[in-house]
Amino acid sequence: MLTDYHLHLRPDDRDASAAEHFSAANVQRYRAVAEQRGIAELGCAEHVYRFAQALDVWRHPLWREHARDDLDSYVAFVREETDLRLGVEADFVAGREDRMATLLEARDWDFVVGSVHFVGEHAVDHDGHELWDHRSARPDELWRRYFQTLGEAARSGLFDILAHPDLVKYWGSSRPERPLPEGDLRRFYELAMDGIAESRIAVEVSTAGLRKPAGELYPAPALLEMCLDAGCPVALSSDAHVPGDVGCDYDSALELLQRLGVGELAVFERRERRLEPLG
Ligand SMILES: [Zn+2]
Ligand SMILES: [Zn+2]
Repeated sequence: MLTDYHLHLRPDDRDASAAEHFSAANVQRYRAVAEQRGIAELGCAEHVYRFAQALDVWRHPLWREHARDDLDSYVAFVREETDLRLGVEADFVAGREDRMATLLEARDWDFVVGSVHFVGEHAVDHDGHELWDHRSARPDELWRRYFQTLGEAARSGLFDILAHPDLVKYWGSSRPERPLPEGDLRRFYELAMDGIAESRIAVEVSTAGLRKPAGELYPAPALLEMCLDAGCPVALSSDAHVPGDVGCDYDSALELLQRLGVGELAVFERRERRLEPLG
């Protein structure tokens, strides 16, 4: 089986409305592409910060700009009008774990995708709130903080899937003022591994990085290998925000999984995980 467990039914721009995109006709467009690409199991994972209820967790300026829709209407739409697995992409916000737990536990998800988009107040991949703009360009320090936060996210137990695990490489080498650290990057990955190993969280292999300046899969093969050695299963996703990106570039992901000897994918139902043969 192939999965795509990290789908957004709308693009990230603020004006992409729920009314326009949370519809059976739109889901059908995602299904049609999935069918062409041989992907049977689809799950949507809308960003939690697009929903008004997220402001009970955190009132970051970016969230206040975007938090418009009703989370329970989204849940009802997916359950009642689609055959998608019901997920949500929830940020890890250090210090707000209890509030996020309250939001998540009140709803009957199939799975929760956990993302580190923020280190402290600053975002890893949002112009206008950028991490890089608030510190002198010291990539080693930013990467250290990012991977420490990733380990905390895994350890929090809030999430079923750890999304785009090395998102901090988002800019690749495209922006000289946002450089990559030099040398063997495993010294950063190590900082997250205790939390990841303890939680045995499913680790997302995401093709989204191929469509970003980084131009690579998330995570890097060396990080994926460390997660596999720690006993974590893999969840496979595209992080599509439009129908055409469902299952995008899966050939590259499947080649990596095959090379590392991964023969099963994590599948979720009502937050119960099981493994299905990959194929
Ligand atoms: Zn994300
Ligand atoms: Zn996403």
